[in-house]
Amino acid sequence: MPSAPLIPSHDPTLLFVNAGMVQFKTYFLGQEKSPYSRTASCQKCLRAGGKHSDLDNVGHTARHHTFFEMLGNFSFGDYFKKEAILFGWELLTKWFKLPQEKLWVSVYEEDSEAARLWFDFVGIPEERIVRLGARDNFWQMADTGPCGPCSEIIIDQGNEIGCGKPDCAVGCECDRFLELWNLVFMQYNRGASGALTPLPRPSIDTGMGLERISAVLQGKITTFDSDVFRPLISAIEFHTKRTYGRDKETDSSMRVISDHIRAIVFLLSEGLMPSNEGRGYVLRRIIRRASRHSRLLNMHEPFLYALVGSVVDLMGDVYPEIVEERERTEKLLKIEEQRFETTIESGMTIFDEILSRVKKSGTDVIPGEEVFRLYDTYGFPLDLARDIAMDAGLKIDEEAFHREMEVQRERARASWVGEDEAVASIYRELISEIGETEFIGYETLESESIIKAVLKDGKLIKEASEEEEVEVFLDRTPFYGESGGQVGDRGDMTGERFRATIVETKKPLDSFHSHFVKIKKGKLRVWDKVKCRVDSEKRMATMRNHTSTHLLHSALRSVLGDHLKQAGSLVSPEKLRFDFTHFSALNEEETETVERLVNEKILENLPVATSVMDIKTAVESGAIALFGEKYGKTVRVVKVPGFTSELCGGTHCKATGEIGLFVILSESSVASGIRRMEALTGNSAFRYLKETKFELDSIKTMLKTETPVERVERLLKNIRTFEKEIQKLKTGSKDLISEALKETRELKGIKVVRVRHDGLNPEELRTLADNIKDRLQSGIIVVSSVSDGKAAIVCMVTKDLKDKYHAGEIMKRISKLAGGSGGGKPEMAQGGTKEIEKLEEALDSVYDIVSK
Ligand code: ATP
Ligand code: MG
Repeated sequence: MPSAPLIPSHDPTLLFVNAGMVQFKTYFLGQEKSPYSRTASCQKCLRAGGKHSDLDNVGHTARHHTFFEMLGNFSFGDYFKKEAILFGWELLTKWFKLPQEKLWVSVYEEDSEAARLWFDFVGIPEERIVRLGARDNFWQMADTGPCGPCSEIIIDQGNEIGCGKPDCAVGCECDRFLELWNLVFMQYNRGASGALTPLPRPSIDTGMGLERISAVLQGKITTFDSDVFRPLISAIEFHTKRTYGRDKETDSSMRVISDHIRAIVFLLSEGLMPSNEGRGYVLRRIIRRASRHSRLLNMHEPFLYALVGSVVDLMGDVYPEIVEERERTEKLLKIEEQRFETTIESGMTIFDEILSRVKKSGTDVIPGEEVFRLYDTYGFPLDLARDIAMDAGLKIDEEAFHREMEVQRERARASWVGEDEAVASIYRELISEIGETEFIGYETLESESIIKAVLKDGKLIKEASEEEEVEVFLDRTPFYGESGGQVGDRGDMTGERFRATIVETKKPLDSFHSHFVKIKKGKLRVWDKVKCRVDSEKRMATMRNHTSTHLLHSALRSVLGDHLKQAGSLVSPEKLRFDFTHFSALNEEETETVERLVNEKILENLPVATSVMDIKTAVESGAIALFGEKYGKTVRVVKVPGFTSELCGGTHCKATGEIGLFVILSESSVASGIRRMEALTGNSAFRYLKETKFELDSIKTMLKTETPVERVERLLKNIRTFEKEIQKLKTGSKDLISEALKETRELKGIKVVRVRHDGLNPEELRTLADNIKDRLQSGIIVVSSVSDGKAAIVCMVTKDLKDKYHAGEIMKRISKLAGGSGGGKPEMAQGGTKEIEKLEEALDSVYDIVSK
């Protein structure tokens, strides 16, 4: 049978075909009848991604590949175990002439039949027949269905190969005992209950790696030295101008590339495209991994695509699909390599720095925040970072990485949606048609304007009516469009025939304001004359927060040092949020100094001056520009003389006194090396302090004291004492213990106490058992308590009896009878169940256990 495609056509549960039997699955399952009773194949296999992945092994072992070819012979209810064994042996020893004394076999530990066949009919000495457990040598397709034991044929490559440990044996992870061929004897059907019933017509499925048998036949220790790979490695040598076989690192990279290029060629030839999910993602990962190793060989331009021809030359006569698709494969691969180059170039250098820093610091965990930042700024993918980290013997704190990712998603949700290229092009077209918007919002909050265009769902329309939501573009506007961290203005717009609310203002392009308008009444038309009015209360609050942000920035720099840089900022009417680079948390004193400094500047009522100048003059005058921000030739500088000067397009107070009041709400960490401060100003700050005071006053009244802190401390201390007291009362009361001891029964001279006392939590139950044990001195105790619909059980065995009775074992029996679970040590065990109705009888079973 010819090979089936790598991409399984009818099986969405399987990423890629990973064994020869996949295309015969329906025959083995009995869903379809095979037109022939026996067959053989050479199947393209891929073991990368998904459950069955060898990706991380490639380059590290001498025998694993992502893409490989599996030779197999199959019987569908025809020949069985004996023939399969004899066929395998005949091929390897008679035709391939492998030395018999180096061959070992493994069988499933319960499959004595196979062991006997190897011994009786093949004549392998018993010491070279190894019995292995189900993990290695029992095969099943799924939880139910056909399954059976396997038997592997293994070649001992000699003790100079592999780990060299004295206990190295068949089954060792190293390369010495090389598994060549796996014979699967499908002889059972596993039912839903897990029971095995013999199949009426057992079948055979076998698999032998072509790369492995080739290497062995050619006397090579690794598959990479066989003629399946050597021509590819030569091609890599040619392109990289490096020599294979001189140093370990170079060899390893060459091996990875020679492996991955085959997988890439075959996957692309089958029409798969690199993407960000599913199969396409596995392909992308393989390409990126190969690209990374190219870089390790000093190849900084796309070059993998140049190897496609070598794969085609080598394998094209067997797999015509790779010949037909050659050109397309090269093109796609080159594009993907280029894409990767640009996203990765800078990230790689930075990641290398992080690696060496982490290594020096003596830990083996790379902070997830840093990896995230790399991902965020350079598109450096996590899996690539993971691969590199693994090679360097380090781990990544992936939990932290995903936490950062979530934060980022939140942020993205809140920000402008129009980044999408397609959307941006709509605006670019529009601005060239109707021209820029004149922004007059620095001087005034009102205007008379003309509607120049209306967009709805990305399409131009002429008019819009009541309740509709549209984007409106004006000739001039007082509305500030969201940018530089400052949110957009809101307000209203009225025309002769309509009334509308502006719910949001954005700036999809420089000097191009888009007003998100909801029509309240009437009809709005293009060319209407309109009156615009910004919601001045919100705008003033926003200005207070923006000017305060500049004061805060400067105050932070003067308290913490000039190394500090702005890393992000949000200015809304409600509050301000400022992210900045700094390596440690601020202590109370620093926070207070910053807060005081800002308030001092507010009280000084300094003028806020804005001026427009060319960027050179601005920077020379010492104005702070934000790193990574794009500025035009002329810029606007916002300055509070003697304190701060920044490039900024935002709207500001005329003097600092307008801010009124500044209160820091919180200081926290957003990512490693980045802190975040949130603060309130003006009315919000006043309201916040007022509410806080109101709450404090209420507490004082409630506690009837002027010193509430002391009072609460005392109360908390009391509560802790009470809690301890209660526990003692619940579990240590003389009554409870004597009650329990009354229940003591003596069986075979051993005292057994079995009590149920509901309402205790597991910890209290343990204390109760301990207390009983102390009084009992010698015996077995089983106590149980039901609370919240669950029963907890504790069993204790006193020391003198622990050789005879095992608390853990007793618990296993009891909890099982009770329909729950449990276990533990010889002297103490715990368990529980939700099936309360079974509890009493289960507890009683302790008597049986002891008397037997
Ligand atoms: P190993 O333990 O070496 O990973 P396996 O038990 O996973 O092998 P099987 O699933 O039984 O292997 O596959 C059958 C045969 O296919 C193996 O005996 C081996 O010759 C070959 N093979 C399996 N995985 C790979 C691989 N990643 N690269 C090359 N050949 C392989
Ligand atoms: Mg394997």
